[in-house]
Amino acid sequence: MQLFDSHTHLNDPQLWNQVDYYLQQAQKYNVQELAVVGSDAQLNQRALTLAKQHSQIHAVIGWHPEAAAFFNLSQQKQLVEDIQSPKVVAIGEIGLDYYWEQNPEPRVQQKAFIEQLEIAQQYHLPVNIHTREAWADTYQILRRHPVAAGMVMHSFNGSLAWLDKFLALGCYVSFSGVVSFKNATAVQLAAQNVPLQRLLLETDAPYLAPEPQRGKLNQPAYTYFVAQAVANYRVLPLNIVAQHTFKNACEVYQIHDKN
Ligand SMILES: [Zn+2]
Repeated sequence: MQLFDSHTHLNDPQLWNQVDYYLQQAQKYNVQELAVVGSDAQLNQRALTLAKQHSQIHAVIGWHPEAAAFFNLSQQKQLVEDIQSPKVVAIGEIGLDYYWEQNPEPRVQQKAFIEQLEIAQQYHLPVNIHTREAWADTYQILRRHPVAAGMVMHSFNGSLAWLDKFLALGCYVSFSGVVSFKNATAVQLAAQNVPLQRLLLETDAPYLAPEPQRGKLNQPAYTYFVAQAVANYRVLPLNIVAQHTFKNACEVYQIHDKN
């Protein structure tokens, strides 16, 4: 069995100093491939550095809505330069987050989001999308600026109605440890209804540690527990969930399956 953590932050200050330890742990839990995701200049550079040092790490770089105000022309040029690296497999995490009041205003977030969708389209890269309290705007923007290489909705927590709409756009849908939380019934329902061909798993470590590790610092190894939760809710063997989600992640990130 092999698992793919399609969205993780080993570049985060909480994990960054013990990357070798976390990679060993990942190995123990059959997490063979990882996409380390950046969100601003520093975290993007760290994601790239890690990807260059470790064959199983792939970099996803881009500007998170929280950092959208800093995504200026020189940062755009830097991003276009950085995505030329063969270790960059997607642009992300990008999107909209209307939850936090301190975030840039929607107009600023939307501009950075659209600019990065256009870069992804131009350079034939998929995108990894963060959306919070912004379903309608995220959907409208993706509808007008689709990315042919692939779109991944990360840590999906929307309703079945939104799930259907994003699936109809061709999106992949990724589930984090939230799916294992007892009260997250809407997320569990979504996880049951994503076609196996569009399903991905992630930890979003160091955040959102799944049951039975909830409350602890999350790490890529715990993709195993996310897979287990999804397998339980879908009433499928764990290895089937692992097999499909691994294949899907390799497909969208265009990584050759090392089987
Ligand atoms: Zn994340």
